[in-house]
Amino acid sequence: MNICVIGGGLTGLAAAYRLRDEGTIDLYEKDAVLGGCLSSYGSGETRIERFYHHCFSGDRMLLSLIEDLGLTGRLEWRTASTGYYAGGILFPLTTPADILRYPHLGLLDTARLALLTLRSRSFNPEALDAVTAKDFITGQLGTRVYTSFFEPLLRSKFGDMAESVSAAWLVSRIAIRSDRGAAGERLGYLNGGFYHLIDGLEQSITATGCTIMTGTPATSLSRAEHGWEVNGKPYDAVISTIAPHELARIGGPRLPAIPYQGAACMTLALDRDVCGGIYWINMKDDAPYGAVIGHTNFIPRERYGEHLVYLASYFRDRLPEDAGERMLADFCERFSVDPGEIRWHHLGVEPAAGPVYTTGYRHLIPGYAQDGLFLAGMFSWPNYPERSMEGAVRAGTDVAALINGVRFR
Ligand SMILES: Cc1cc2nc3c(=O)[nH]c(=O)nc-3n(C[C@H](O)[C@H](O)[C@H](O)COP(=O)(O)OP(=O)(O)OC[C@H]3O[C@@H](n4cnc5c(N)ncnc54)[C@H](O)[C@@H]3O)c2cc1C
Repeated sequence: MNICVIGGGLTGLAAAYRLRDEGTIDLYEKDAVLGGCLSSYGSGETRIERFYHHCFSGDRMLLSLIEDLGLTGRLEWRTASTGYYAGGILFPLTTPADILRYPHLGLLDTARLALLTLRSRSFNPEALDAVTAKDFITGQLGTRVYTSFFEPLLRSKFGDMAESVSAAWLVSRIAIRSDRGAAGERLGYLNGGFYHLIDGLEQSITATGCTIMTGTPATSLSRAEHGWEVNGKPYDAVISTIAPHELARIGGPRLPAIPYQGAACMTLALDRDVCGGIYWINMKDDAPYGAVIGHTNFIPRERYGEHLVYLASYFRDRLPEDAGERMLADFCERFSVDPGEIRWHHLGVEPAAGPVYTTGYRHLIPGYAQDGLFLAGMFSWPNYPERSMEGAVRAGTDVAALINGVRFR
């Protein structure tokens, strides 16, 4: 079988990996490097992800792929700390004692929040898809918990779409982030970076004679006598892993529009920790970024020889031209950093970084098979109601199984 995969992110690579012995594969990737949202830069053993990443203990397919690729020795589980930056003050929110001390929630609010966290896995996402996160939290926990705790989180992640986001998304986020002990949240990472996952997939795929073409966008898709043509070349099967609206732009089917948003993430290096030892800081105060991620408060600084911090932000439509400068200037002022202390910085921008899970989203999710094409990616069922590396591996694996009629582990 002659197979084309459009997109060299984790979904496309997972699909090609599963199908690597089933025929000839051409994988088209528009960027110079593979990995999509999970791409990295640098050289040598330890690379830096363009966007911060960690995995979760429940990521069954991802962990099994890591094992298949012989990377289990790199997998490490660490305790991650969290905090909230509110009213110009950085509050640790890692331990139960921290949470009790947090002044923006009362004792009763905290108790209700803890109860909701415990119950988060028992809610039915189907029923919550039609309810906004705002209505759900206000109804369950009251307006104060919404405005002082959840609203800033929703705003920083979804901007002016925040009030349209469904409770299905919010509750799944609470559930996924609730694997925590008294000392913090348990998160996984690959020693040396997730670059090793992408590299392992690339090596395995090309070892069987399949072709990976980086710097080569799929620019046209059209019907052929038996199947579809990509960039003028006929294929028996085409798997597209790019956003449905991008696929439609090059000739693919027009599907109900899935709202997408972009990510702009500033990485910067410093000689000292300015995040109070905390890994993940959510911004309650209005800032040009919604979270500050002290990567080297999660992964030892010695691996990089410097402290690494990510400033995370999302945008709709177009990223303002001065976004990077505004992020840096704000960060320096708020976190008392002299601009001269920043050793280097890098702005990673991805216009199609993820769907916005508005109410009614589940009715927009396309099936894997569409008009003789195969579609899998961040928009597929395994990524509902939140996209993830696990969802990417599952979607790529599902679509590969559909093509060759077997079930992969
Ligand atoms: C800021 C951020 C942080 C994240 N953190 C985490 C985390 O901590 N844990 C977690 O599990 N998940 C995380 N994710 C989600 C995870 O990275 C994604 O769900 C996953 O990598 C998506 O893979 P994908 O292949 O479906 O999409 P993508 O990574 O977007 O890959 C699609 C690929 O298609 C390519 N492409 C686009 N158009 C064309 C074309 N015309 N021709 C050829 N190629 C094309 C793109 O360049 C890209 O490489 C994060 C995502 C972001 C943005």
